[in-house]
Amino acid sequence: MPQQIVVVKLGGAAAQSVEEFAEDAAAQIRAGRRLVLVHGGSDDTNRLSEQLGHPPRFITSPSGHTSRRTDARTLEIMQMACRGALNQRVVAALQRRGVNAVGVSGVDGRVWEGERKAAVRSVEDGRIVMVRDDYTGTVSRVNVSLLRTLMEAGFTPVLCPPAISTNNEPINVDADRAAAVTAAALGASDLLLLTSAPGLLRQFPDESSLIRRIPRGQAESAQEFAQGRMKKKVMGATEALVGGVKRVVIGDARRARPIEAALAGEGTVLE
Ligand code: ADP
Repeated sequence: MPQQIVVVKLGGAAAQSVEEFAEDAAAQIRAGRRLVLVHGGSDDTNRLSEQLGHPPRFITSPSGHTSRRTDARTLEIMQMACRGALNQRVVAALQRRGVNAVGVSGVDGRVWEGERKAAVRSVEDGRIVMVRDDYTGTVSRVNVSLLRTLMEAGFTPVLCPPAISTNNEPINVDADRAAAVTAAALGASDLLLLTSAPGLLRQFPDESSLIRRIPRGQAESAQEFAQGRMKKKVMGATEALVGGVKRVVIGDARRARPIEAALAGEGTVLE
């Protein structure tokens, strides 16, 4: 039987937990698991944006979702932070532990392709405004053959935004949802979304209100507990399950052995 693939999305102030994450990923790979690693880099992008004098701005959609206002300069800063800095740190941390990791942004080899949104609806002072120069979209196609080629040759892919649009422009995409579509496309057994919370909390931020299990039929309605960026994780989890992933775990990135713990079912298990 072919080895099962586990897609792991590292979040939760990713930069701080890179070493622990790499340690655990290396141990899992040594134990025979095939991993595809994904990260975003919103904290790093925020920091670099401030440093470069182009402070981060956010858009709230009419349905209440928040996303980064990604003008051309922000896109460039995001590329520096995600692909330039964080991705290379993750790859180097894995290389130090004997894992032959390869950094791949969604642009490279069209790993993540999606439609750029022609206009983004933004609520400003109670009114809906159309933003037209935003470089954002959603991944709709994954270059599975490239990922399989890398894995079959013994490489561990480390994926990050941006993605590439059908018109060949880099676009900012949500890394949780990109990880979800990747897991579905690869026929992964598990998708682990590691974050700076113990999982999905019924009463955020009360960590004792952790929801331990959500049956797949109720995944979408679990959205009612999520606020802010957690909404994207629940959305990604739902999309992954619909796409055939057997189990999604929203787990704690801040703990030791975060991957092992999530695989053991610590966190919020959606199945
Ligand atoms: P990451 O960077 O870890 O990928 P985000 O910071 O984008 O993730 O989103 C996760 C955050 O969402 C958590 O750290 C927490 O602050 C917040 N959050 C909102 N609602 C909830 C909830 N119901 N349960 C857990 N965390 C929540």
